[in-house]
Amino acid sequence: MIEDKNPQRTPLSELGEFKLIEHLTEHFKVTQKSTIKSIGDDAAVLNFEKKQVVVSTDLLVEGVHFDLSYVPLKHLGYKAIMVNLSDIYAMNAMATQVTVSIAVSNRFPLEALEELYAGVATAAKMYGVDVVGGDTTSSTSGLIISVTAIGEVEKDNEVLRSGAKPNDLLVVTGDLGGAYMGLQVLEREKEVFKVNPNNQPDLSMYTYIVERQLKPEARKDIVELLKELKVKPTSMIDISDGLSSEVMHLCKQSKVGVDVYENKIPLDPQVISTCEEFNIDSTTIALNGGEDYELLMTISQEDFPKIKGNTNLTVIGYMTDEDRGMHLVTRAETKIPIIAKGWNSLKDQV
Ligand code: ADP
Ligand code: MG
Repeated sequence: MIEDKNPQRTPLSELGEFKLIEHLTEHFKVTQKSTIKSIGDDAAVLNFEKKQVVVSTDLLVEGVHFDLSYVPLKHLGYKAIMVNLSDIYAMNAMATQVTVSIAVSNRFPLEALEELYAGVATAAKMYGVDVVGGDTTSSTSGLIISVTAIGEVEKDNEVLRSGAKPNDLLVVTGDLGGAYMGLQVLEREKEVFKVNPNNQPDLSMYTYIVERQLKPEARKDIVELLKELKVKPTSMIDISDGLSSEVMHLCKQSKVGVDVYENKIPLDPQVISTCEEFNIDSTTIALNGGEDYELLMTISQEDFPKIKGNTNLTVIGYMTDEDRGMHLVTRAETKIPIIAKGWNSLKDQV
């Protein structure tokens, strides 16, 4: 489905591991003060002085987390960085460095890895993080990418999942469900393409949601905004698996309950119209669809005036005592229990 714009195919065996690493990493620049030694030695050297260091790792496996028949490699490289930076921002920290490790089969030519690294480089540049290392090895079949992100946060400014208190407001950034509906559109087009390869998909009606799927943005801007507004959330998590499972993580770890109001959940008009087209309930998608990489946080009621009216931040509910349980208050004002549904289990149903 994705046109091959780069017909040249140089086998990886032509370069060897050393030359390959050199080639892929030669344009990375160091911009962070904390990076003392970057790529090129046995290990990177970092100096965070008095700041606390935050570390997070994610693993992306072909066929499990991504499908190269509709994900361009450049987007994949970008997304691999985003999903990790999102975890750092969810700690209220600033991301500073990443390492990128790949296992790749000989099915991939050098040009494919150049594409992947172009995405990594763009993400690193846009978000101001240094690529300070990684590892490169072969795999017998698919592509595996592991990214480790490192960040910094002043002592006592980190925000954990465990700090929410009853009566705190539940706040979400951006809007939900877009990435999942984008995936539905891409998967449908893939099936159409299988039947007729000459049929180029028209995705112009779905630009926002397809971009949410292929090119997610981590919410660095929110960490900056919270600092500016002088709001320290009481708890925070990023939304990788869907609102319901992230809400449950906050509740379980903070030992509180929650009431989430269905009519407050922010949805983009394109998500609503695409849900109608696919005959899926948009609330179900917001609750269970994955990969939006928005931030979900709780804030003390005292901080409400500081966030009021900010279009990036939507209050969708409030925390309660633990014994009240976790509920969605529907538009019809009935209360239904929130249950965990990973987005993979949802995928099997649709
Ligand atoms: P080692 O044999 O110690 O694992 P390598 O030859 O694998 O060392 O790596 C040499 C340097 O290149 C190191 O700084 C390492 O972090 C970096 N590096 C290796 N692979 C990658 C990669 N895929 N992306 C970024 N940096 C890499
Ligand atoms: Mg190595």
